[in-house]
Amino acid sequence: MDTNDWKEECGVFGVFGCKDAAKLCYLGLYALQHRGQESAGIVSYDSKHFYVVKEEGLVSDAFNSENLAYLKGKDAIGHVRYSTTGGNNINNIQPLYSKTVQGKIAIAHNGNLTNAYTLYKKLESEGALFQTTVDSEIILHLISRAGCNTIVESFQKTLAQVEGAYSLVSLGEDFLIAARDPSGFRPLVLGELEEGYIVASETCALDLIDATYIREIEPGEILYITKSGIESFKIPKKVKPALCIFEHVYFSRPDSIVFGENVHAARKAFGAQLAKEYPVDADIVISIPDSGNSAALGYAEESGIPYEIGMTRNHYVGRTFIQPEQKIRDFYVKVKLNPIQEVLKGKRVIVVDDSLIRGTTSRRRVSALRDAGAVEVHLRISSPPIRFPCHFGIDTPKRSKLIAAQKEVKEIMDYVGADSLGYLTQKGMLDVMKANRPADFCTACFDGKYPVKVRNKGKGQFEGRRIKLFATKH
Ligand code: AMP
Repeated sequence: MDTNDWKEECGVFGVFGCKDAAKLCYLGLYALQHRGQESAGIVSYDSKHFYVVKEEGLVSDAFNSENLAYLKGKDAIGHVRYSTTGGNNINNIQPLYSKTVQGKIAIAHNGNLTNAYTLYKKLESEGALFQTTVDSEIILHLISRAGCNTIVESFQKTLAQVEGAYSLVSLGEDFLIAARDPSGFRPLVLGELEEGYIVASETCALDLIDATYIREIEPGEILYITKSGIESFKIPKKVKPALCIFEHVYFSRPDSIVFGENVHAARKAFGAQLAKEYPVDADIVISIPDSGNSAALGYAEESGIPYEIGMTRNHYVGRTFIQPEQKIRDFYVKVKLNPIQEVLKGKRVIVVDDSLIRGTTSRRRVSALRDAGAVEVHLRISSPPIRFPCHFGIDTPKRSKLIAAQKEVKEIMDYVGADSLGYLTQKGMLDVMKANRPADFCTACFDGKYPVKVRNKGKGQFEGRRIKLFATKH
């Protein structure tokens, strides 16, 4: 994974009716750290008060025994975030908490609303005072104004108005709501512990706290969880499901079950299919760790060519590092991934990665593999060419920066300096996914077919005020 190019999205977690809910939430967020590393927040509720802690940085930096002890109660929701806009405005850290006419509510959301700007402008003209620059606040404003008899009806009315991608958790006075947009772009699952219920972006977060996986929250479903149990409602909107295939390509953790399918197994199958589509004679198959590991294994198994570890990753590289003054060859590759010369020397190498975006890091990696002694470098990508930006929660570069939108495969091969280049076909990828579970996927980043109309394309978010908000009781 390279953090320079695309930015990650978010992860959400919710606990209802469990002792030390905030501590469970902390562990859940820890498991979801790969979905966002910029900030973390937890809101808990103890049947009297809401407690809020939000900090910039990793989950392990944001929380300590002191602030976790402060987060009292048996109910909690949490969020990890990689801001795509709004910078490091601490006020943007989720969950957002507010007192509304419907009662006190906290909300955390993963995804991107495609009509956020239109709704924001409308709400602002009606007098809404925005405190943040995140689109989750729009949902809060709409809920507050919904004027319905029940909170579930307010959510139904609100979610019928918003468009785009959202998997959200919301904590109120003695209830937890979990909802997934009707297209189901982002994952969201339900689990249980002996005492209560858990909601998480991915099942790897359930595993860490020994929760039992019950099921996915369905596209367009609102779960209303209270002491009396779980009730399921529908968002009154008809759209075809469009599950984000990139969750399987890159985002989700390999140990998670996403859209009913284990991510590692899906990636391995992508690799095997790639070996059928683009075979080549070589001595070893290696991966770009960690994003290419599972697919490389699948490629090696299918081709019968031995799998090797050709690069090691430094897992402790932060977001920024002090650059050396003297010129070091392949510095940017080496700081994260170091080629193993003993493995590569004199070898014809097949190198498998999950995706190509701008092509810049791959170009450096191919050159580093050659410097380490590889005599041939055959690049295999376990997803189709990415030609279109995502508007549903993944911050992609503009089209002009997507190498596959600008160049043909042969030109890309020349640019990255590989002896051959093969991308998994979209048909091959979908056949693999659908063989295990019939589903409709969003493949807009490959084919430009956006399943939901994108109204506010290119519109920036709105500027919010900067308010320091570390630990607050309400
Ligand atoms: P590049 O060669 O510059 O196109 O970068 C390709 C690398 O970016 C691959 O190793 C991918 O695993 C990685 N990648 C794909 N999606 C993302 C993302 N959203 N954030 C960071 N890195 C990504």
